[in-house]
Amino acid sequence: MPNINIHNTHIISDFEYYAPETLQEASKLLKELGKDAAALAGGTEVIVKMKEGSRRPKHIVNLKKIPGLSGIKETSDGIEIGALTTIREIETSPLIKEKYPILYQSAKVLGSVQIRNRATVGGNICNASPCADTAVGLLSAEGVAHISGPDGERKVPLVDFFLGPGRTVLAPGEILTSITVPKMAPNSKSTFNRVARASMDLATISLGAVATMKNGVVDDVKLAWGTVAPTPMRTKDVEEFLKGKKLTDEVINETAELASKSIKPREKGRSNGPYKRRVAKGFIVETLSKLRES
Ligand SMILES: Cc1cc2nc3c(=O)[nH]c(=O)nc-3n(C[C@H](O)[C@H](O)[C@H](O)COP(=O)(O)OP(=O)(O)OC[C@H]3O[C@@H](n4cnc5c(N)ncnc54)[C@H](O)[C@@H]3O)c2cc1C
Repeated sequence: MPNINIHNTHIISDFEYYAPETLQEASKLLKELGKDAAALAGGTEVIVKMKEGSRRPKHIVNLKKIPGLSGIKETSDGIEIGALTTIREIETSPLIKEKYPILYQSAKVLGSVQIRNRATVGGNICNASPCADTAVGLLSAEGVAHISGPDGERKVPLVDFFLGPGRTVLAPGEILTSITVPKMAPNSKSTFNRVARASMDLATISLGAVATMKNGVVDDVKLAWGTVAPTPMRTKDVEEFLKGKKLTDEVINETAELASKSIKPREKGRSNGPYKRRVAKGFIVETLSKLRES
């Protein structure tokens, strides 16, 4: 296994670099090296933080030499997206655009084309930022994380994957290998709302919605939010409230009110709680009005 000591003058601290060629090797290394190590995918978080000095891993374990961790595959149940698949591959996949539009919508808003060409979906998920755009899309599509580690493999629905800002259920040595998404109903509609200070900025608040209507009433709906809580989150109480309802103006307004109470934004700060609750209401009114007209 290559083990090169790199002294990079642009990065403040020295680190040992590893490029394992199997998952088992990578897991073993990450477990042995513990908190001093960082897995590296596209590096648009890790390298930026190292340059800023906010993260100083002593060991970098590059995952990119491990085969089989990248690409989008259609399966009998839905699709499987490898953890190292870039955001740009998701954005430009005809399969995703046609059959999983919410994933296309949440990928195309992330950063710039340059960032999307490097950034991976696994990095976006494992970084566990409350504003992670693809996390919001994948949560509303009921994505499931596939994990491999020293003790074998396991699956965790994304709704249970995030523990807090920068924290996930991944144990030492565990690697996200892919995310699966179940088939979406052919008549489902999806929307992605996002507010940011400038178009390239991280989301101040976002909402991914996937819904189906039957005989004029809401048959099923999934609402996933970014930057309204310590983790990306679903508002299941709001989803339950909507099921079986006709989307009258009254129902839409009641849902907006309920959603504004269901999200858990920080009360203080620049984009504070009252602001986010107002935007959340607007997002719901826009989303449900579009759904009613579709
Ligand atoms: C200019 C700029 C703009 C950005 N704009 C946005 C934006 O609009 N929306 C948004 O959501 N993000 C944005 N980001 C953040 C970033 O680009 C994304 O979070 C990106 O998807 C991270 O992926 P990566 O492959 O670069 O991750 P990396 O930096 O390689 O890794 C991120 C974290 O995940 C861990 N990790 C990576 N892959 C795995 C794996 N398979 N298993 C276990 N752990 C893993 C790493 O150890 C690290 O802790 C932006 C970043 C920059 C620099």
